[in-house]
Amino acid sequence: MSNRKYSDIIQEEFEQALSETDVDFERKDYPWSGELIYEAKSEDDTFTLRVYSSLDKRTGEARSRGSDAIRTVVLHTDSGRPVLKEKRTNRIQTWKKNLKKKINKLAKQQGNVKKCEECGNTMVIRENSNGEEFYGCSWYPNCKNTESL
Ligand SMILES: [Zn+2]
Repeated sequence: MSNRKYSDIIQEEFEQALSETDVDFERKDYPWSGELIYEAKSEDDTFTLRVYSSLDKRTGEARSRGSDAIRTVVLHTDSGRPVLKEKRTNRIQTWKKNLKKKINKLAKQQGNVKKCEECGNTMVIRENSNGEEFYGCSWYPNCKNTESL
């Protein structure tokens, strides 16, 4: 499809890049995922910044060649739903720089996420049955307030 050259990334290199961000990450081993996942909680635990590395957790190497991307998201810890997302980071030559920038941006933004105008709880990103995303109150079903993204 494109001529971009994909980089092979290994775990050490990935963790090195994470250590160069403003965030202190911990490696997680979730049974539901085959990829290495890194997380950092906000000081009050309300938010979790999660990085899906696209690296295979058994080998520490990139999974399917090139096609996978690194995903970064901030989750509302209690509901496990996303509150902030960044575009995927492709594993091209500039991935380190791109990833670090996104992580630092999310870390900064998580102190300033959208709050529900009705009840003051955190607004989380939900999907309707057509796959369209919108903001819904994290206190749902007690509060049914929604907003468009
Ligand atoms: Zn609400």
